[in-house]
Amino acid sequence: MKRIIDGAYLVPLGQANTVLLDAGPELVLVDAGFPGKATLVLDAIRQLGRDPRDLRHLVFTHVHPDHIGSAAEIVRQTGATTYMHAADAPFAEMGGPFRAMTAPPNALLKVMNRLVWHQQERMEPFKIDRYLIDGETLPLVGGLQVVHTPGHCAGQVALLWQGERLLIAGDVGMNVVGLSDPVGFEDIDEGRRSQRKVARLRFDAAVFGHGAMIRSGAAERVRSKWARV
Ligand SMILES: [Zn+2]
Ligand SMILES: [Zn+2]
Repeated sequence: MKRIIDGAYLVPLGQANTVLLDAGPELVLVDAGFPGKATLVLDAIRQLGRDPRDLRHLVFTHVHPDHIGSAAEIVRQTGATTYMHAADAPFAEMGGPFRAMTAPPNALLKVMNRLVWHQQERMEPFKIDRYLIDGETLPLVGGLQVVHTPGHCAGQVALLWQGERLLIAGDVGMNVVGLSDPVGFEDIDEGRRSQRKVARLRFDAAVFGHGAMIRSGAAERVRSKWARV
């Protein structure tokens, strides 16, 4: 577990990141990794000196297997309320298969796409309790603003925490080999619009679904990469 900024922690779950927000009596987890990772999440909660049952809210950036795989188990262990955009929720409740996605025009990302993207993969289904709506601010841990950023996935959202402190970007892009496109898009034009939308936001730190976090000056780096894609 790595501290991003005060109250926000990156919990790396193998290939995918999750974010734990600890600011107040209730904890929020953003995304839930591949299957078999629930223990790592619960251990991270205990490392903060908290009880797994303090995890009351499980918010998803989107429905892909690397973000929902351990969700059913985490909900069983904590009873957390689940939040996802309505465009993606049915796929969580079916447990896949997922919508088709094609690699962006980049040789390395095409290889990564072949390695990690399996549309027919099945996950343990779980219920979505609450749909995320573009522009709303969830009254959790000091405010979590929902920014709908489709393209990689129709229900993909980015989250702004406590005003402009932290962007939780999901897979609008990734930071594995520097800032780049995600490994695929359902709709690349829509994905580009979403990258430009994120480039117009203000935030200090940023964390992505995959790769390294940026602790400060993140908006400038995102802007220089995505403002004119
Ligand atoms: Zn994804
Ligand atoms: Zn992902």
